Amino acid sequence: MGNKGLTIVPLDLGTVTGIDKSIFTLRENQGVKVDVPCLAWVIKGGEKTLLVDTGPCDAQWAARYHRPLAKRPDQELDQALAKIGMPAGEIELVIFTHLHWDHCFNLEWLPAATFFVQQSELAYALDPLPADRKAYEAGLPGIQPPWQGIGDRLKTVEGDREVIPGVRVIHLPGHTPGSQGVVVETAQGPWVIAGDTVPLYENWDQDEDSRKIPGGIYQNLFDYEASLGRLIAVGGHVLPSHDPRVTERTLFP
Ligand SMILES: [Zn+2]
Repeated sequence: MGNKGLTIVPLDLGTVTGIDKSIFTLRENQGVKVDVPCLAWVIKGGEKTLLVDTGPCDAQWAARYHRPLAKRPDQELDQALAKIGMPAGEIELVIFTHLHWDHCFNLEWLPAATFFVQQSELAYALDPLPADRKAYEAGLPGIQPPWQGIGDRLKTVEGDREVIPGVRVIHLPGHTPGSQGVVVETAQGPWVIAGDTVPLYENWDQDEDSRKIPGGIYQNLFDYEASLGRLIAVGGHVLPSHDPRVTERTLFP
């Protein structure tokens, strides 16, 4: 069952510049510097319009707490949504693949939205290990994570669940404890927005032995490998979270 008319529109919300590629490909490509987009996704054609992830903070904040980020005005979330004919104020549902800084900012543009995150992700984000505090902007003096400003509009999900007909979340722990993917039923079968479980296309389909390559940032590598296995079992096409090639298209499938 499910709505077969669903489509996915990628949003390019800024470019992380000069990042070491080994951040995305575990134990490979050390010293190779790349520029990568921070992607979000709009799922169109369903009974409600859905946004998956909300992009990074502004460039100044990123430079101070995270990494160099280049962001044009038209890469602000509200402008990027307006450009595809989707007023930010009308977005009803948002799914966070996880709560790292480059996936969950700009919530002030989404006053009408309800937000979904895995329970295990929220629990960890509230009290991460010291090494993960910056990525979550949690547990640091003087700042608080952006999602703490949306109160009870932030809802938790445990495990796999249908969000609207034709769209379901699947728990993909590994990159973070509560990472999740979003499976979208399209006219061409399932397309999966994988979050940082698959940051680049080459994590998924470039290895000569068709081995899947985990990203270089992980909280639990056993869970990560099992989640890659889950994605294989789902089948269909995988959409990576930071691959520049995504921006060559305006619509999937
Ligand atoms: Zn991440």
